[in-house]
Amino acid sequence: MSLRYQTIPVTAFQQNCSLVWCDETLDAALIDPGGEITKLLAEVQRLGLHLKAIWLTHAHIDHAGGTGQLARELGLPVIGPHPGDQFWIDGLPQQSQMFGFPPAEPFAPTQWLHDGDHVRIGKQELQVRHCPGHTPGHVVFFSAAAKRAFVGDVLFAGGVGRSDFPGGNHNELIHSITQRLWPMGDDTVFIPGHGPESSFGVERRSNPYVRGT
Ligand SMILES: [Zn+2]
Ligand SMILES: [Zn+2]
Repeated sequence: MSLRYQTIPVTAFQQNCSLVWCDETLDAALIDPGGEITKLLAEVQRLGLHLKAIWLTHAHIDHAGGTGQLARELGLPVIGPHPGDQFWIDGLPQQSQMFGFPPAEPFAPTQWLHDGDHVRIGKQELQVRHCPGHTPGHVVFFSAAAKRAFVGDVLFAGGVGRSDFPGGNHNELIHSITQRLWPMGDDTVFIPGHGPESSFGVERRSNPYVRGT
């Protein structure tokens, strides 16, 4: 048995929503359903999966914008992010307006996440690490078995997340990357919130923001 996933870019920001599932039970979760719910559900159906939960890395509109509607329509629990992002959840209506997104339905997380927590889907378990810096309540999801990390806007192939938003902090972001991501191993492949996958080893060698750390 193993963890499977498929990344589906959504919204004008081409945010990488990841559909993750247990290949034994076919239970699935959507990480960061920022929008385009019809497209996401078509993929769930095409793969014959049982959608059980929404997991959020952080509450920026391109990551969380579709959450309220999806949770309401399908009765899904919203797991995450960390409580540090409450103010971003409260601000989703303004974020929608500012970036020209469809109005985001409000929601309240069913369960907040903290560093060291675990999330489960089917027979798969992923570790939760709190990685503030891009937003105060940003979390990432790590499958040690699959050697995959879903890191939202903490780290990108060749870049790092912006830290110039309210509550952002560049030093804290770099600390999150070096202290919370690198221990997952150089051979761990990460799925960033935008753009192509890479591995932590490649970024430690070549990413100008964190090279040699
Ligand atoms: Zn973001
Ligand atoms: Zn983003």
